[in-house]
Amino acid sequence: MIGGPEQMILVVHVRGLDGMCAGCRAWWSRLSPYPCWQVEWATSRQAHASVARFLGGVR
Ligand SMILES: [Zn+2]
Repeated sequence: MIGGPEQMILVVHVRGLDGMCAGCRAWWSRLSPYPCWQVEWATSRQAHASVARFLGGVR
């Protein structure tokens, strides 16, 4: 296992040459400025997971 859905999103939703999200364009033909809301969601989920790991290690 590489990661959860967050990892999948971060792999697909990358910054395009024009600064737009390549994943949103490829999947939905939608132009979204990068980072799009899916990248924001995935990064916040990952940050939350790392904080949880950190707190678990301290305890
Ligand atoms: Zn996107």
